[in-house]
Amino acid sequence: MKIEMLNVGWFTAPAGVFRAGDDMDRTIRFPVPAYVVETATERILIDTGLNPAAIADPAAYYDRPDFFAVFALEQEQSVAEQLDLSTLTKVVLTHLHWDHVGGLQLIPASVPVVVQRSEWQAGRDDAAVQRNFFFPHDYADDGREVILIDGDCDLLGDGSIELLLTSGHTPGHQSIRIGEVVLGADVAHYASSLDDHRFPVFADDHEQQGHSAERLRVMRDAGLNVIPGHDPDILRPGAVT
Ligand SMILES: [Zn+2]
Repeated sequence: MKIEMLNVGWFTAPAGVFRAGDDMDRTIRFPVPAYVVETATERILIDTGLNPAAIADPAAYYDRPDFFAVFALEQEQSVAEQLDLSTLTKVVLTHLHWDHVGGLQLIPASVPVVVQRSEWQAGRDDAAVQRNFFFPHDYADDGREVILIDGDCDLLGDGSIELLLTSGHTPGHQSIRIGEVVLGADVAHYASSLDDHRFPVFADDHEQQGHSAERLRVMRDAGLNVIPGHDPDILRPGAVT
């Protein structure tokens, strides 16, 4: 099994938005990763990065000038520029935030998407959409098969790839264990967040996020390589082992 990190782009935002207690006057440029997992029979994309149409003027594209006043987006290379998307067998979404689901519409509608049922339902609930800064335009119905998961799941039925419900950051956030690697996604933006629980200032449920971080910390301490969501000092494109 092979895992490769692609860097799709960057977002720049005040440090204090993404780590409680950090300076609001200083900005940090965060990488936006997506991952390709190859097995003997599958080629799975995990998350899809930014929506290329939104990069230049996200406030206008998403009609949220309030929200995007504090963000700048940059495309590195979209998933379409880095991969032959027609060869994918599945897309797994960790959650429905715009930096994870934005590239979904680049992927042929014949490729099914796998997401937690609680996340997908929240993405269609007005109050949850508002609270979680979801932009339904990014995951609008395009005829694609949506495979809904309830909790932890052995994705391929052979124990090789396990979806882990790690809610809190969003209602149905999931992490993915592939062998000895755990893609934690946004349970912890920084590797250190697993220990200090200094999460972004926004969340669906910070207490639940703390429980999810504890779950991943235990896995890390047992020897698994837990990859954080957006840590600029850790994420590098290329093979993940
Ligand atoms: Zn994110």
